[in-house]
Amino acid sequence: VHITPPQTYLAKARREGWAMPHFNFSTFETLRAIVETAAKLQSPVFVATSEGERKFFGVNAAVAAVQVMRDEYHIPIYLNADHTKSWEASQEAVDAGYDAVLIDASHLPFAQNTELTKKVVEYAKVKNPGIIIEGELGHLKGESKIQQRVEVKKEDLTNPEEAQAFIKTTGIDMLASAVGNVHGIVLEGEEKLAIDLIKKIKDAVGDASLVLHGASGLSQEDIVGAIKAGINVVHINTELRVAYTQGLKKFLTLNPEEVVPYKFLTAAVQAVSAVVEEKIKLFGAADKI
Ligand SMILES: [Zn+2]
Repeated sequence: VHITPPQTYLAKARREGWAMPHFNFSTFETLRAIVETAAKLQSPVFVATSEGERKFFGVNAAVAAVQVMRDEYHIPIYLNADHTKSWEASQEAVDAGYDAVLIDASHLPFAQNTELTKKVVEYAKVKNPGIIIEGELGHLKGESKIQQRVEVKKEDLTNPEEAQAFIKTTGIDMLASAVGNVHGIVLEGEEKLAIDLIKKIKDAVGDASLVLHGASGLSQEDIVGAIKAGINVVHINTELRVAYTQGLKKFLTLNPEEVVPYKFLTAAVQAVSAVVEEKIKLFGAADKI
């Protein structure tokens, strides 16, 4: 099956001011729920596995499963290796046939982050010229779960001049930045984005796409404001995890004797689908195929 390269939709999103939805999965029924909903709404979509998620699902299994989804639903679905922390893990994802890789070396000092990111870009583009490589700059805090509180300091945020130099030197297609966002859902204190900083980074990065991580738990207003300010891809993971778990728990509490996986997992899938639908509409990605 011929698939439109992800660059086409990223360029369209930048031009028209909407954002590509990006959802993580670690089970097949979650992947199907995401794709089925995206197909219903005619939205292009990134599906992704973090290192932990792909270890559970299987790297080659993830690539094959996405291929099956494409054949079945005929929509542009792109598989991203989310937060890949090392050279080896990046290489593994490129070799397996992922459509995109986030090399996350943001824990390293600027020079080493630049060096490793550049190395991944050079390797990946030779193997697959259409691949999308994302780099990360700034300290994105939190984990993809429910947390009491996460403190974001000024020095954690992405510096626009550094972002410009980083993109120019590494040749990445997309940038993950720290703009007041944190991974996961935070219970204490409101998570608030620095919309002005997003605009500054956008002005500094030219044709690269800007990615907003950790959008779970953000207000609708903040997400819409961020997309207006220049965000082109929005990540949702924790809200899907919470929906899945709560849907499942609720069903099993009401039906404690149920032992048929396709029955109790349907409850999880329906809860995930509802979140996916809400986010695709919020990001303005419906009817963009
Ligand atoms: Zn992330």
